Amino acid sequence: MGIGSRPATCTSCGKRLNRKQWYYRNGRYFCKRRCWVTEQDKAKKEAAAKAEQAPAAQGTATEAPAAS
Ligand SMILES: [Zn+2]
Repeated sequence: MGIGSRPATCTSCGKRLNRKQWYYRNGRYFCKRRCWVTEQDKAKKEAAAKAEQAPAAQGTATEAPAAS
């Protein structure tokens, strides 16, 4: 039924999306580029925080030493 594929609000700040001007990236909609950048920063920080919380499972044979 018409244009139902696009959400009415910005993913980042929740503002109503301007009919003419909206920013689409990675399957999400933002009211402006700035909001997309903000959202990316947030996601990055969250990922970093998660990585810090995760147990130190790194350094276990992820690298295969190619000693000849
Ligand atoms: Zn926004």
